[in-house]
Amino acid sequence: MACEGCKLCPRECGITREEFQGLCRCKNELEIASYNLHFGEEPPISGINGSGAIFFTGCNMSCVYCQNYPISQLKNAYRKISPIELADIMLSLQEKKAHNINLVTPSHFAHLICEAIDISKTKGLSIPIIYNTSSYDKSETIKYLKNYIDIYIADLKYSDNNLAKQLSGIENYFDVATNAILAMYNTKGLLKIKNGIAEQGVIVRHLILPGYLNNTKNVLKWIDDNIPSVHLSLMSQYFPAYKAFNYKNINRKLNFQEYNYVLSLLDTMQNIDGFIQDF
Ligand code: SF4
Repeated sequence: MACEGCKLCPRECGITREEFQGLCRCKNELEIASYNLHFGEEPPISGINGSGAIFFTGCNMSCVYCQNYPISQLKNAYRKISPIELADIMLSLQEKKAHNINLVTPSHFAHLICEAIDISKTKGLSIPIIYNTSSYDKSETIKYLKNYIDIYIADLKYSDNNLAKQLSGIENYFDVATNAILAMYNTKGLLKIKNGIAEQGVIVRHLILPGYLNNTKNVLKWIDDNIPSVHLSLMSQYFPAYKAFNYKNINRKLNFQEYNYVLSLLDTMQNIDGFIQDF
């Protein structure tokens, strides 16, 4: 993977990232906001010791409601690091007994992350590596990552390209993300859990957006039809953030009736298994 005339992700900016920022807001240099043991992920990811989360700045999407906008959209605070430094951070998280390395919003740095993983493995990194993504990734990137990534935590945000355009500035989200998720599933399969901790496989996440339950319904249907028995993580934690206050349907939290409606949808799905956030 190279990013000269960058076409690393589906946005295919074609710019030289040595000189310019792409739509991901990043040049060709790793940038992180923070790293720490994270206890708020799904139970087999956080476990008892925590997940070794590394939060990258920038993002190749532009969600108006981004829950992580100070890091992903505004890049309020970050530091530039080399692949060697990223490798050392991964090893430091392993030393702190993290169950895994959790790369949060990695898509626009995938090529540099692979360099870091190569270095970290020569220095003894042995815990599973998680690619925690919006799923706006090329399927060829996912195939390339086969020998680098053990677990995918993959958002499926929209079932409707028009809604993705309206809320995330992306024309073809559903087509791209579903291809990427199928590639993840084909390379890593169902979630394998040993002694309560995930070792390999795919978790598909979906954040329920208030006022767009049909979107959730169709996301669940696609999952049920296409990736049998995959682990679903259904998130009810939405709160209006960033520019969401300008959008009528998402300028509020989910309500209890909406949450119950989504639970009732799940009852009708044949294959879905996984985790549901309490209301
Ligand atoms: S990684 Fe960034 S610069 Fe490269 S194509 Fe995607 S958005 Fe554009």
